Amino acid sequence: MNEKYDPAAVESAAQAAWRAADAYRVTEDQNKPKFYACSMLPYPSGKLHMGHVRNYTINDMLTRQLRMKGFNVLMPMGWDAFGLPAENAALKNAVPPEKWTRENIAYMKTQMQAMGLAVDWSREVATCDPEYYKWNQWLFLKMLEAGIAERRTQVVNWDPVDMTVLANEQVIDGRGWRSGAVVEKREIPGYYLNIVQYADELLGAVANPEDPNYLAGWPERVRLMQENWIGKSEGVRFAFTHDIQDAAGALIGDGRMYVFTTRADTIMGVTFCAVAPEHPLAAHAAASHPALAAFIAECAQGGTTEAELATQEKKGMATGLFVTHPLTGAQVEVWVGNYVLMSYGDGAVMGVPAHDERDFAFAKKYGIAIKQVVKAGDEVFSLDAWADWYGDKQRAVCVNSGALDGLPYKEAVSKVAELLAARGLGEKKTTWRLRDWGISRQRYWGTPIPIIHCDDCGAVPVPAKDLPVVLPIDCVPDGSGNPLKKRTDFLNVACPCCGKPAQRETDTMDTFVDSSWYFMRYCDAQNSEQMVAGGTDYWMPMDQYIGGIEHAILHLLYARFWTKVMRDLKLVKVNEPFTKLLTQGMVLNHIYSRRTDKGGIEYFWPHEVENVFDAGGKIVGAQLKEAKGDLPAGTAIDYQGVGTMSKSKNNGVDPQDLINQHGADTARLFVMFASPPEQTLEWNDSGVEGAHRFIKRVWGFAAKNEAVLKAATAGDFSQAELRGDARTLRRELHLALRQVSHDYERMQYNTVVSGCMKVLNALEGFKSDGSDGDRAVLCEGVSLLLRMLYPACPHITWSLWSELGFAARQGDLLDAPWPAVDEAALVQDELELVLQVNGKTRGSIKVPAGADKATIEATAAASAEVARFAEGKPPKKIIVVPGRLVNVVV
Ligand SMILES: [Zn+2]
Repeated sequence: MNEKYDPAAVESAAQAAWRAADAYRVTEDQNKPKFYACSMLPYPSGKLHMGHVRNYTINDMLTRQLRMKGFNVLMPMGWDAFGLPAENAALKNAVPPEKWTRENIAYMKTQMQAMGLAVDWSREVATCDPEYYKWNQWLFLKMLEAGIAERRTQVVNWDPVDMTVLANEQVIDGRGWRSGAVVEKREIPGYYLNIVQYADELLGAVANPEDPNYLAGWPERVRLMQENWIGKSEGVRFAFTHDIQDAAGALIGDGRMYVFTTRADTIMGVTFCAVAPEHPLAAHAAASHPALAAFIAECAQGGTTEAELATQEKKGMATGLFVTHPLTGAQVEVWVGNYVLMSYGDGAVMGVPAHDERDFAFAKKYGIAIKQVVKAGDEVFSLDAWADWYGDKQRAVCVNSGALDGLPYKEAVSKVAELLAARGLGEKKTTWRLRDWGISRQRYWGTPIPIIHCDDCGAVPVPAKDLPVVLPIDCVPDGSGNPLKKRTDFLNVACPCCGKPAQRETDTMDTFVDSSWYFMRYCDAQNSEQMVAGGTDYWMPMDQYIGGIEHAILHLLYARFWTKVMRDLKLVKVNEPFTKLLTQGMVLNHIYSRRTDKGGIEYFWPHEVENVFDAGGKIVGAQLKEAKGDLPAGTAIDYQGVGTMSKSKNNGVDPQDLINQHGADTARLFVMFASPPEQTLEWNDSGVEGAHRFIKRVWGFAAKNEAVLKAATAGDFSQAELRGDARTLRRELHLALRQVSHDYERMQYNTVVSGCMKVLNALEGFKSDGSDGDRAVLCEGVSLLLRMLYPACPHITWSLWSELGFAARQGDLLDAPWPAVDEAALVQDELELVLQVNGKTRGSIKVPAGADKATIEATAAASAEVARFAEGKPPKKIIVVPGRLVNVVV
């Protein structure tokens, strides 16, 4: 073998052999336990970044180690290929999104292959393949039939200059990203999936440990995020009555304005009500109130997302209309509030300023009365400022509330519900924060919604036999709306019902649809007849899913919902798609910048600067290593701390550069060693160098001992006949193996790597006497090291395993059995005990393992330390704590 480690040669040879053997193709083998390990599919943005490298290496280590343990492991890969960035790139470069996307996929696939991932590429899926999105369309039609999908009106962002609908991320500070025009809200028809129907089931598996589908294998924080997003509220829905009539003389809302509250116990504290700008009472009042009409128009220009509503300033205007309090009969003024959503509940809320922080601020701003109706212990209520206890329902007891006085929260809510029910004005109700899923996007690069619009028949589903509705791939978006609207060859079609000329729907599906079930398609990727089949029965549920925390809510929730729909349509048998979830931490790097003379910010690459530390070793700044432009070497540079890798901040590291320079094994080893998978990883060039040096040492050790290793046979010795040093080495090896095996189970791959480093240290430190026993133990040690390190660094280990003859003796490394800990090797020949003299630690003594008390006492008494303190006198007393210490009193 080569003396020198040549990563490029080693890696290309290993990859070529794996490719030739089709080494990672798996089938549904019923004779082995299955394990399905999957990374969230990437968006083909152009090239891999370090976050990808980290995610896929975690998955690859899991896959390779479990295969050695006898599992049938599936690790597939695919592409989340539809979406807005491809349209934006198309706009910028005047190429069709399809071309841009396919080129990126091709390049990123070569990068993944260069990483040496154990992907079964025969199952590759790109969501822009008609063979894939056909099933989006097919299932959508099934959902329409089942009443799970339906057509409703939706509010969208409308750019009045570009005459196009904008995605939320295309609205910047309330203006269109291209035109700069003030964005309007418009109501247009679209399709919704009724995810709220599944809210209880979706909640149970994340919130209730008693639930049979409880996701115990998910991070606590993700379960909590989902629980909050689903947002179950149990409260009371009730009506304020009124006699406000519309222009035609009919009572608006039958004379009832409904609200929902989780704090019905504070009902006696209502001093105003607020309705959404789109509420019928608001519209009625605005007809004779120009200032209110202007305010409502202003509200219509805000964002449509909940996040935008949560951050915008709370504003309101009185309508001059009054409704009647259902319990007291008092007249309560109705306000229009920009924070009230028409799509939530009934579009109206009661205002209790004394016990709701938002209402408190609103009442202070507009001079509305504040009435305390709840107390908590001896706390003193003040109108001056909000205090947290005002809103604390756990400690709340009703006051100033007539029949409710003295009741705590729960009892008061029940009493209020009872009183309202007796008047026929309200009842207890459960509501959800979760909204139904609007899937219509007025965009080109997505799955066409399979609907045909006929003047006579309305919205007609495309017959299943005509699927897929294929998206034309040669459109180039020009920023002026959906290009499908101009594609007459796509647009014009005969109505499937009556045969008259009709037009196809031009909306496409939200790309979250694509990612809601791709992991099931991997299981039956080649099936042209069915969406999913036997492969899904075999592989699902997925055993381990790996992805970023940014997908903790929407993607995972939609995938869970979609799986449940497929179950109810009898397509799959599982209730939950992902048994275990790992959210890998982000990859961060240091950020260095400097204010330019013109007041701008200039960023510097980490390799261009050297850090300046304070006395405690903390980075407090940096300076230029060499002159750059007009800046001389030594110029002071500001240190900004660490942040996510980004092109604009000059702190990204291109995985390809790293692979080219040091090889994939080094890149893999570094990202695994630098930090536990779930924590953030701070980039560190010297850590990369360290990883590379370790790999070179492994190679060097193997090359130095090549002859011995090739001749010897691992395990060909008798433990009892080994000399002491060899026994000590074996004990170190098997202790490390025990730790590493445990860390693989926990997916703590950083300590797997440190365990491998311990093993190499032990092997390098071993002075062989050339005996058969020593040679066999050395050989065993290398065989253990190669197998422990293989999942992290598959190329070098695979190469050495073959070169050194292990493959010939124990089979190919990919399927070599995971080594078992030899308990006999762990038995210690000698025990080390702490030595104390008069209760103070003075060193240690060594005794044979299994030595009796008398032997230990004699050894301690004879030690140099005891002799020093006893000054020739015999010890007064010796106390032995078995296995730990011996204390000699002199
Ligand atoms: Zn028709």
